[in-house]
Amino acid sequence: MSPDFAQPPSDRPVHAAGEAAGDPAQEAAGARWKKKELPSGLWLKCESCAATIYRKELEEKGRVCPACDFHFTLPGRERIKLVLDPESFDERFADLGAMDRLRFNDSTPYADKIKRTESKTGQKEALLCGFGSIEGRKIVIAVLDFSFLGGSMGEVVGEKISLAADLARTHKLPLVIFTSSGGARMHEGMLSLLQMAKTSAALASLNEAGGYSICVLTNPTTGGVTASFASVCDVTLAEPGALIGFAGPRVIASTIKQELPPGFQRAEFLLEKGQVDKIVRRSEMRSMLAKLLDFGAGATAS
Ligand SMILES: [Zn+2]
Repeated sequence: MSPDFAQPPSDRPVHAAGEAAGDPAQEAAGARWKKKELPSGLWLKCESCAATIYRKELEEKGRVCPACDFHFTLPGRERIKLVLDPESFDERFADLGAMDRLRFNDSTPYADKIKRTESKTGQKEALLCGFGSIEGRKIVIAVLDFSFLGGSMGEVVGEKISLAADLARTHKLPLVIFTSSGGARMHEGMLSLLQMAKTSAALASLNEAGGYSICVLTNPTTGGVTASFASVCDVTLAEPGALIGFAGPRVIASTIKQELPPGFQRAEFLLEKGQVDKIVRRSEMRSMLAKLLDFGAGATAS
């Protein structure tokens, strides 16, 4: 098993614990990932191209840079608002909160970190799920929120993905998942790694029951999330430029002792290699999902 299994790729200095890692060149390359919250004020600087952007314009474009098309990471509830029909989200399992079974303590106790994140985000965990509709088509939706401990997968995220797959199976609805994650939650140790098998099994059950699932990989999707439920859906979409990978590029380069190709671990590279079926811009996501939902309904009916 990779030594950085529970760690994000080393070219991206932010992970679930919010700590920085890597050499200065790597950190400069990954500087765009440092700020997850948009700073207040009328204007802000694009994390990718450094253009000065009018905040209102950025919001109107669904947080996509008007100069370079960089797709900013979206908080979970904004994603839901952007993708689902207005007022259609019927949230489920919102009361499931993270547990600190290992009494994990690094720089601060995990329990304190959870409490702080809960009060900052107003939610109990990194995954939001429930029923909703896209252009009138009813679905079960699950959205990972990077602003909650880097969208990392602990016991509750694994449980909620499994529950969402069960909902889709029992209600005979398609399941649509959006991911943005640093991977497995290191604070929950082996318990978080177990979620990889659990979520994959839940999606396999959905598949065996004739269910239909779509996963949209958004920036960044890494580690144990990429290596489990994010890679086993019927259709895999990605947003432009999204960082998608398992281990970090430096670890891979030093293991295989080869230089990595340009654009490695970006959505476009993975499309070329066949891991991603299609890259979809945020502004076209709703209409593309509606089309794919119709396609899936036809496929399962035949
Ligand atoms: Zn830009």
